[in-house]
This record gives sequence, structure tokens and C-alpha cells, in this order.
Amino acid sequence: MNSLLLNTDGVQIPQLGFGVWQVPDDEAEQAVGLAIEAGYTSIDTAKLYFNEEGVGRAVARSGVPREKLFITTKLWNDDHDRAEAAFETSLRKLGLDYLDLYLIHWPAPSQDKYVQAWKSLERLYKDGRVRAIGVSNFTIPTLERLMNECEIVPSINQIELHPQFQQKELRAFHEANGILTEAWSPLGQGKGLLDDPGLVKLGMKHAKTPAQIVLRWHIQLGNVVIPKSATPERIRENIDVFDFTLDAEDMAAIGAMSTGRRIGPDPATFDWMG
Ligand code: NAD
Repeated sequence: MNSLLLNTDGVQIPQLGFGVWQVPDDEAEQAVGLAIEAGYTSIDTAKLYFNEEGVGRAVARSGVPREKLFITTKLWNDDHDRAEAAFETSLRKLGLDYLDLYLIHWPAPSQDKYVQAWKSLERLYKDGRVRAIGVSNFTIPTLERLMNECEIVPSINQIELHPQFQQKELRAFHEANGILTEAWSPLGQGKGLLDDPGLVKLGMKHAKTPAQIVLRWHIQLGNVVIPKSATPERIRENIDVFDFTLDAEDMAAIGAMSTGRRIGPDPATFDWMG
């Protein structure tokens, strides 16, 4: 498994991980267990997914040494002014004594508390409770504000990113500032995208599925990806993307698939408290 270096001293994140949004807690244990058996070492959850306990049970049952796993969870919007307590609750639910990566889930700019939240994450990092800290759904202005008013540059920004919504400007900003790009809904949630005739054709060319073609495109762009599936075959299929290469023409064909339309909410205005 490829890993990428975070801007935090020496910390590496597996480039492909397993996302568990919309996996109910009682199914998370089995799904994450299957993923770990298939070779995934990185798991992406969040307080808002209500499955941290199921993820924790899978991690405990896996028998894989803790230091070989990379566990991410996220601070929810209504916890921006009590991040340290929310962190401890997540850690307890996961059954862990440290976290690999803690993210602010959304900036929720209308409540204007994300700078305060980031300062708490900086404290957690300095206290050694978490190996790396980052953000999710941050825009260029919200990232700039953190960089101007705080000490630590976020190590990663987890954002909506797939062939139909490619985030070129934000990716360039990340690259210029040493921030890794992590793609959520990397498969565009499967809806329609994976039936695209161009992806089907590339799949035939490389003897891979459209999902594998899309995940390989992310890998070659340098993104971290966290595809989700509850199906054992797809869980295995989605990690089997390290034995082929898309050529420049293939990359350009996928690069031309952008519609500029998001699936999820616009982070500039999203302030749902859950
Ligand atoms: P995704 O792009 O990973 O798509 C998942 C869906 O695609 C599955 O439910 C299934 O229907 C289909 N699929 C998966 N593998 C397939 C395959 N091999 N062939 C055909 N269809 C396949 O979407 P996602 O779950 O929205 O995103 C992945 C992860 O990103 C989440 O689980 C979560 O961890 C994270 N996420 C984060 C945020 C955020 O705000 N930070 C938002 C959404 C998702």
C-alpha cells in the first residue's frame, strides 16, 4: 500500500482507506473487519456517522497491532467550542488511547468557531493525543484564516472530489501549502458516474472495473482516497488498484469528465448542526 507523508513530522497516511459514512454501528464491525482482512489499514469515521463504537470493535477484534492501523475521526459542528471533550468521547467510543488523525468536519463559517476549534486540535496534537490534525470541507478563505491566525498548518483537507467535481483550484492551493488532498465520495457515490461509457471503455482497456479506474485516477493525482462499500467483493475490488497505470491519455480523458456539480453541500454555507 502506498503511503503519503503528512506535513507532521514523519507521519505517513495510507493513500487508500475505508470510509464508513452511512454504515450503521451494528454493521460497521463486520464491514471494517472485512476491510482489514482485505488489506485496508486506514479507516475514516466521524462522530456524526454514529459508528465509532462499531469501528472500535472491529479494530479490537482484528488482531492487527494498533500501530499498523491509521484511524481518523472528526469533530462535529456543534462541538467547535468543546473540541477537547468531544475528542475524548470519540476516543472512548473507539476504544483507543490515541488517534492517528483528527479533522474538523466542516468549517460551518456562520457560527465562526472553527479557529477556536483548531486551537484546541493544536493542543491535542502538542499533548501527543493525536499524531496529526487536519480539516475537512475547508475552502481557500477558511484555510487562509487558520494559517493566518493559528500556529500549525493543517496536514490534510478532506473534500468532495471525484471525476465530476475535480477541485483543481483547491488542490493547487493545497499543493502550494504542503496540505494533502483527501477525496470524499471518491466514486461520486457510485450514482451514474460508474456507468459513464468513457470509464467503461478505460475499464476494458486495463481489465479493471470503472470503480478501479476512478480510484487509480485519484491515486495518480496524489489524492488520499476513502471509498466506501458494504459488499465484500467491492471492498476487495476497491483496494486492488496498485497493479496498473493509467497513461497520460487516460488521465486526460477522466480530466475532461468534470461537470463542476457537487453531490454534497457547499461548505461556504453549510452550517447544519445535526
Ligand atoms: P463513495 O464515492 O465512496 O461511493 C460509495 C458508493 O459507491 C457505495 O455505497 C456503492 O453504492 C458504490 N460503490 C462502492 N464501490 C463500488 C464498486 N466497486 N463498484 C460499484 N459501485 C461501488 O461515497 P461516500 O461513501 O459518500 O464517500 C466515501 C467516504 O468518504 C465516506 O464513507 C466517508 O468516510 C467520507 N465522507 C466524508 C464526508 C465529509 O464531509 N468529510 C462526506 C461524505 C463522505
